[in-house]
Amino acid sequence: MPRDYYELLGVSRGATDAELKKAFRGLARELHPDINKHDPAAEDKFKEVAEAYEVLSDPERRSIYDRYGHEGLRRGGFEPHFGGFGDISDIFEAFFGGGDLGLIFGGRGRGGPQRGRDLAAEVSITLEEVLTGTTRELDVEAVVPCSRCHGNGAEPGTPIETCPRCEGAGQLQSVARTVFGQVVRTQACDRCGGDGRIAQTPCDVCRGSGYEERSHTLTVDLPAGIDDGQRVRITGRGHAGGPGVPAGDLYVLVHVRADPRFERHGEDLVTRLDVPFTDAALGGTLPVATLEGDEELAIEPGTQPGSVRRLRERGLPSLRGRRRGDLHVVMNVLIPSKLNEEQRELLRRFAESANGDTYEARHEGLFDRIRQAFRG
Ligand SMILES: [Zn+2]
Ligand SMILES: [Zn+2]
Repeated sequence: MPRDYYELLGVSRGATDAELKKAFRGLARELHPDINKHDPAAEDKFKEVAEAYEVLSDPERRSIYDRYGHEGLRRGGFEPHFGGFGDISDIFEAFFGGGDLGLIFGGRGRGGPQRGRDLAAEVSITLEEVLTGTTRELDVEAVVPCSRCHGNGAEPGTPIETCPRCEGAGQLQSVARTVFGQVVRTQACDRCGGDGRIAQTPCDVCRGSGYEERSHTLTVDLPAGIDDGQRVRITGRGHAGGPGVPAGDLYVLVHVRADPRFERHGEDLVTRLDVPFTDAALGGTLPVATLEGDEELAIEPGTQPGSVRRLRERGLPSLRGRRRGDLHVVMNVLIPSKLNEEQRELLRRFAESANGDTYEARHEGLFDRIRQAFRG
């Protein structure tokens, strides 16, 4: 059974065209094949999502789908069109090749020269680094113009002639039939690789391609406040493009390592503080973990288990430069589990002296307070 189209796009059944488009753009960015090379499932997921968007963005098909579901579309003669495409890059081109959707991938125009391919890398950082922002040196292997022939593909000093296949244009056109009508595709010439010219004596280093793969080190800035799973895009640091065409981008996927002391909720942090019951009852001072090191926290007399102290602006900074989040300290009051005879006697005497005013029963609110602290 195919999945529900609205569910696939993560929108409500009443979603407007603008909401559909926004949801689709977001998913398409996430499922971009160049940044999901290690995840073959992403390609299938993209196809599903594209099919859902294709149907829901067409008022007629959407109304059939709303009333009769997938079965209604099938009876109406609607076929998902992906059989007609060679591979996922064709789909991307058909969807994003022109028009405003082209903005998703940097305005790559239909039929225009391709940008170089994007590159992907991953880094892992600590919560402390999220606080301050940090940099990483990355070793990247990218396609760059050949150092020997400077990209023209010819042994230095040998002649270069016009490509007979594309007659120097560098591009070949073909027509693909899709449900959108005919889509004219312009591809780089397979003979000259888009250059329009062919070297008579191919360069020794790149064998005439004009490119070579080289590794280099570059420094990536990771801004304060970045979250686990976010990507930093470095424009132009992907693979080199064809002649006169911009390089692709480098996408750096950021992993934030889990810190056992803190739970992150957006810009807020939650930590737990173990408070011996005597400190909770009498008050005192205890060290609490913050991202900037331990800090002495005054414990109020009568501190209740599960109560939360909020240390303002001791959480994480916002990527957008707003104020820092807060640090929520959940009081974990410790009740002794091992007592010697003397301690038992002290507590018995305490229990005898306790009266109706000693305890303030506050059952309600305990779980609410915990929930509040963990709300992102
Ligand atoms: Zn070369
Ligand atoms: Zn050619």
